[in-house]
Amino acid sequence: MRFDRFKLFTALVFCGIWSDIVFANLDKAPSAFAAGDSLAVFCDFKDARYEIVYDRTNEKATVRSTIVFDTTDMGKPLFDLIANPIKVTVDGHEVGAEEVKLPDNSSTMRVVNKVLDAGQHTLEVFHELSSGVRFSEGVNSAFLVGDLADRDLAEKYLPTNLEYDSFAMEYSVKFIGISNQQEIFTNGQVTQHRDHYTIQFPAHYNVSAPYFHTAPKGYFEVVYDHLTSIDGRTIPIVVYSKYSRLLEPFAKKTKTIVAELEADYGAFPHNSITIYATPGGGGMEYAGATITSDYALAHELTHSYFARGVMPANGNAGWIDEAIASWRDDGYQRNSSMYAVTTMAAHSQYRRHTDYRAYSDGSMFMSHLDYLFRDLGGLKKFLKNWVGDKKFQPLFTEDFIADLEDFYGVSVQSKFDRHIYGRGSKASKSSTEKSSHKRSPMHMELTPELLEQLL
Ligand SMILES: [Zn+2]
Repeated sequence: MRFDRFKLFTALVFCGIWSDIVFANLDKAPSAFAAGDSLAVFCDFKDARYEIVYDRTNEKATVRSTIVFDTTDMGKPLFDLIANPIKVTVDGHEVGAEEVKLPDNSSTMRVVNKVLDAGQHTLEVFHELSSGVRFSEGVNSAFLVGDLADRDLAEKYLPTNLEYDSFAMEYSVKFIGISNQQEIFTNGQVTQHRDHYTIQFPAHYNVSAPYFHTAPKGYFEVVYDHLTSIDGRTIPIVVYSKYSRLLEPFAKKTKTIVAELEADYGAFPHNSITIYATPGGGGMEYAGATITSDYALAHELTHSYFARGVMPANGNAGWIDEAIASWRDDGYQRNSSMYAVTTMAAHSQYRRHTDYRAYSDGSMFMSHLDYLFRDLGGLKKFLKNWVGDKKFQPLFTEDFIADLEDFYGVSVQSKFDRHIYGRGSKASKSSTEKSSHKRSPMHMELTPELLEQLL
């Protein structure tokens, strides 16, 4: 059965050099659910301002967040923040915001303990940064995320929403008790004011898109470069690392890889490239940014098209971009056979993280789709069109199927039913998520120890 797509966008916003399409994202939100005697409802964030104060004197980093959001149903609004908030207000009234289990035991969020009418409201959250910060003569702080485990995105650092929701964000960053200059590495636009910085992120960013890292000036080696996109834009490249030997090779390789990706999939979707170069391990993608080793650099840049170009709307869609990036890593093979039966897109609608089988079985499935469409130009032809057409839109697996079928005029539903949803197959035949539960070689597991080292 094909999912009935509901496409709606409310406004076109053109702002400075960013031209952003702001979508009403609630059509991609999971269903509201019962929370006590009321309904827990998902929100459409309109904008979020985060005032982050790094106070070296008291070795404390605090955040005041102001979030304007819409709801379409009466109920208790949901957001997420892992740290316990110090104070939460809605429309100026202090409220509680306890953790709540999402249905199917799939994840956890926070629910505001106040029933609100449908409409626009303002949420204020005060909290202390509990990870991603270390004070020295200055401060090292990075909001590094992952998408292979539950609650591993920006909710580790800031109050935010699920991946279905894109909204304008601004970080206001202030340093107290720090005499030397701080450097900021980010995929937003930085403005220096008298006593603080602001970083503005485009309104098509969601919880997994922003990149932010600050360190005392000189802590990292940096190289500034640029490339010229096929659409004529000059795209600045910043590569930084603790290891100066990595800088030039990473910058050079980035230009080669982006040229390859632009030839295959069109102009690079983002206006800048920021790379934190590490000597080993895997990487993680952001919108036009990545922390990565040499080994994973091409994989992570591919994610600037698939993951942070066309974006997964939930955990059931996360396999698509990993499968495409892995298919590229594997040399775009074409396979007539496809055996694996998986349930990569058949998890709870509330699930947030990606199924590991995307890297192996998912990549194999892409090579099989490429075989099926071999007389129609192959799969890359569709992917180029898709990333151009659906840029910065959060999508479901059902959208992927519908768009494929529209493009080629061929039904592939039964292929997805069998290999991606595991429908009509005996359980014993399915590859289970647990059996393939190994770390992806391309993505690092952000343990607290590793995070501390990376700061
Ligand atoms: Zn990946």
